[in-house]
Amino acid sequence: MRRVEFFRHDLGEAELESVRRTLATPFVAMGPRVAEFEREFARLLGVEHVVGVSSCSMGLVVALRALGVGPGDEVIVPAMTYVATSNAALHLGARVVFADVDAATGLVDPASVEAALAPRTRAIVAVHLYGQMAPMAALRAIADRAGLALVEDSAHAITAARDGAGPGQVGDAAVFSFYATKEATAGDGGAIATRDGALAGRLRRLRNHGISADAADRHGAAYRHWDMLSLGFKAAMTDLDAAFLLPQLPRLDARRAARQALAERYEAALAGVPGVTPVRRDGRSAHHLFAVLVPPDRRDAVLAGLGERGIGCAVNYRAVHTLSYYRDELGWARDDVPRAAAFGDRTVSLPLWAGMAKDDVDAVVAALRESS
Ligand SMILES: *Cc1c(COP(=O)(O)O)cnc(C)c1O
Repeated sequence: MRRVEFFRHDLGEAELESVRRTLATPFVAMGPRVAEFEREFARLLGVEHVVGVSSCSMGLVVALRALGVGPGDEVIVPAMTYVATSNAALHLGARVVFADVDAATGLVDPASVEAALAPRTRAIVAVHLYGQMAPMAALRAIADRAGLALVEDSAHAITAARDGAGPGQVGDAAVFSFYATKEATAGDGGAIATRDGALAGRLRRLRNHGISADAADRHGAAYRHWDMLSLGFKAAMTDLDAAFLLPQLPRLDARRAARQALAERYEAALAGVPGVTPVRRDGRSAHHLFAVLVPPDRRDAVLAGLGERGIGCAVNYRAVHTLSYYRDELGWARDDVPRAAAFGDRTVSLPLWAGMAKDDVDAVVAALRESS
């Protein structure tokens, strides 16, 4: 039996060397390497400003706060996402209004966003699911017409594009994750990209308790008192994170190409497996996850069958509004967001990482055939 892990990173000598370089400096928390990472990541994205943060989860909180979201506001979020997206709005005292998704792609449906607009709506969060970008042009038009902020949850998409635009090029801010299994990783970490210089300034302040200077600015010079100007968070990236991430940036395109070849092999092989449908994709996907849809009454058996055969798998995600907290504490019902609920009952994520062999794909497909 050929075992296949769900994910394996390719970190090694380049990252060790980069961290070693940072350890020879006085900075291990936020310092010059964060600034270097922010410059390089901004260049990679083609977006003017990048602000390094401690995670995508905190980045979403900081971004929504910087865009004015607060108590009493409503934030529209697709229900097919990770809980971090909607929780960010709740932590700011805002109400989450779930939008429904396209039944074939799981991406937010602009018509559902339009239907969710209300007088208290303050922001829309788009989610780029599995590496495919949300329909940003349509969402931008809705946000502009209604005077709303548009944030991208780009945890699944660095190297993606749609209609000629990448993450951060259409939304007011795009928030990235560098958690262990994402396209680039420092174990944890995140970044916010924006084309708006004034917003970038607010983001820098909010990631550091709303105080007026960063630690690196204070190093070496005569002591100057700092001040607190707004209520912020402890949410900055560290130089150790940045040291880890910098050597990975030039490898992202090659990693994406490797995942695309594996995804195409999956798609070709799965064409002959009844009851298993790859999630539809178009545009340039970052291929963060390879997700298939199976019949809802077979999903748990498929997950168990893959597990018994040594194949790593996951569910990304059960629709957020169906989870206990959102159902019991906030009163959401399955049928309030029916297509997301149905999609979340059917989705299974298969192993996908740049170093996987073609034989691994074939082993996963064989196990899936036996399990479904
Ligand atoms: C991973 C993930 C997050 C949270 O990222 P962290 O960096 O772990 O906080 C948010 N949204 C989506 C869609 C994710 O997959």
